[in-house]
Amino acid sequence: MSQTLQAIRGMNDILPADAELWEQFEEAVRDWLRAYGYRPIRMPMVEPTPLFARAIGEVTDIVEKEMYSFEDALNGESLTLRPEGTASCVRAVLQHNLLYDGPKRLWYMGPMFRHERPQKGRYRQFHQVGVEALGFSGPDIDAEQIAMCARLWDDLGLTGIRLEINSLGQSDERARHRADLLAYLQQRQDMLDDDARRRLHSNPLRILDTKNPALQGLVDAAPKLIDYLGAESLRHFEGVQQLLKDAAIPYRINPRLVRGLDYYNLTVFEWVTDQLGAQGTVCAGGRYDGLVAQLGGKPVPACGFAMGVERLLALWQDQGHQHESVVPDAYLVHQGEAAGRFGFRVAEALRSAGFAIQFHCGGGSFKSQMKKADSSGAPLALIVGDDEAAANSVGVKQLRGGFEQAPAQVTVNFDELADHLGTILFPMEDDDGNL
Ligand code: ATP
Ligand code: MG
Repeated sequence: MSQTLQAIRGMNDILPADAELWEQFEEAVRDWLRAYGYRPIRMPMVEPTPLFARAIGEVTDIVEKEMYSFEDALNGESLTLRPEGTASCVRAVLQHNLLYDGPKRLWYMGPMFRHERPQKGRYRQFHQVGVEALGFSGPDIDAEQIAMCARLWDDLGLTGIRLEINSLGQSDERARHRADLLAYLQQRQDMLDDDARRRLHSNPLRILDTKNPALQGLVDAAPKLIDYLGAESLRHFEGVQQLLKDAAIPYRINPRLVRGLDYYNLTVFEWVTDQLGAQGTVCAGGRYDGLVAQLGGKPVPACGFAMGVERLLALWQDQGHQHESVVPDAYLVHQGEAAGRFGFRVAEALRSAGFAIQFHCGGGSFKSQMKKADSSGAPLALIVGDDEAAANSVGVKQLRGGFEQAPAQVTVNFDELADHLGTILFPMEDDDGNL
């Protein structure tokens, strides 16, 4: 027996019931982004490998061990399936000179790829909604992005997601912190794990982002970056906090929050829940003022965040949100050659009039077709036999009640069918669809 092919581990099929939930989520996200003036952008899923190495940092988990990189068989160029969107977005902005007429608010949504150990909330193909604001330097945009997230949780009815913020200061402040951190870690070298020892000289800040529980105590007591911030960095951080307070958004300063990518400076933030087990960060971001220049542009301040769609949807479902199945307005059953052709025309005409019609395909008795009509969830069945076809009319039958004002079953002329369905299905609307 041949074995059926399976999807790659950590890369999930999203089956219809879940895909409908995804669509609901995506609709909410689109409305939400419009409310803040963000415009969509779509970047390729494959980029030249050096883009990510340069943007995210050579000595990060992502670049060191999580990227799907391969050689283009035709020209030998090293390519990578994007592990995140910020680098691609900034590349696209520079390539197309999008900032020529001022700052931009951009967003995208799509799959990202990281070679991680698959587990609940951690996949090798996962999805992010990414939000990037380029050209704004003040704390107001940082705070606005954080407030945006709070509003989305509210729009979705999500609770129990708490906000952690920190400031990573500027590079000179990080350099002073780094020297003290290095000295601190060097004195405790025997307590470090292999990863941490390897990073000691290349990127000691990364050690603070360790997921190894054995290192937590050591890391908690390490010199804190926030104590090295100068007046300007502190002012920016206080500005963000003031706006959060004004907006009544509770937060906690987590001095250990450093993020897994090297491009951040000043504000960083994460939204975390305790309800998803170990993979509790549903959204993360911050300011990345150096990235545009790092990728070859003139310096442009920027701030952004990405949320993990799978984690948010898991939380949404855990908190009782159920997907709504897409149900047709009517299911059309038919029997006989003339009836089939007439019914096909009826269905198309009704779709032109704005109705969702499921046309029965595959033949079978009226009885078996009516069973299908019933299980489709449609409130109405449209019944066409050769008699109806000859009379240019259609039987309309209620399948699940709920429309007391309409007869349980009635025969309607084809020309009046759309109006008739409209008055049954949308009795409160006038001809223009207004309530
Ligand atoms: P983590 O610490 O969980 O590895 P990260 O810092 O690597 O996250 P980011 O690169 O900041 O994550 O990505 C933003 C968000 O994308 C995360 O907060 C998370 O919700 C989601 N995410 C990241 N990696 C994965 C993954 N492998 N599977 C599912 N979601 C992910
Ligand atoms: Mg990670």
